[in-house]
Amino acid sequence: MKKIIITIDGYSSCGKSTLAKALAAQLNYVFIDSGAMYRAITLYFLRNHVDWNKPKEVVKALGNITLEFIYSQETDISEIHLNDENVEWLIRDMVVAENVSGVASVKEVREFAVAQQQKMGDTKGIVMDGRDIGTTVFPNAELKIFLTADPAVRVERRFKELIQKNPHITIEEIKSNLETRDYIDSHREFSPLRKAHDAVVLDNSNLTMKEQLKIALKLVKERLEVEEEIA
Ligand code: C5P
Repeated sequence: MKKIIITIDGYSSCGKSTLAKALAAQLNYVFIDSGAMYRAITLYFLRNHVDWNKPKEVVKALGNITLEFIYSQETDISEIHLNDENVEWLIRDMVVAENVSGVASVKEVREFAVAQQQKMGDTKGIVMDGRDIGTTVFPNAELKIFLTADPAVRVERRFKELIQKNPHITIEEIKSNLETRDYIDSHREFSPLRKAHDAVVLDNSNLTMKEQLKIALKLVKERLEVEEEIA
């Protein structure tokens, strides 16, 4: 059967990665968490004291960064490796979360990440989630989903996720981080977070994972039928 590209964009903590991962597993597609790339770059910049407001420094630093997704049987996801180091968990740290939107708004950083993301779509059969996947990375993707959820639901979800690793984290800290990131992500000059004109909006505030997946799979089926008709 013909393979397609599926993009899932939306604000922070809408459950994009969870849905993308489930969808990819059902379809036997590759799941790529594009946010992990921006987070890994941010981790590198923080560790190496790179000033991301200085384009020359940024370009030099990017030249020393290799990002790779390697499948882990243990977690059943492709985990991100930064220069051969598995940083999948380190990049979920609050320090990274506090700086990632600033780093992701730098033109050179976006060009670096987008070029690699586009390459990953060469063979189709991919579900990629992020902020600009349906608008900039794969503007011709066969299926684009724009996921939304009530802000209070999003904060609660992220809190439940992070409290497991950091018992000192507070709801206020998370709320403030999500608001700041969403603001920067949707107001930046290059590739801001926007709903693609041809994306399907899915509000999952009151939906279980199973219900969301059912809707998404129905959309995939419809798109595949259209593709078969065209072929
Ligand atoms: O998806 P996640 O929350 O891990 O993404 C972290 C950050 O990476 C976002 O807040 C955003 O600043 C940036 N990002 C982006 N474009 C993408 C994916 C993520 O700018 N496609």
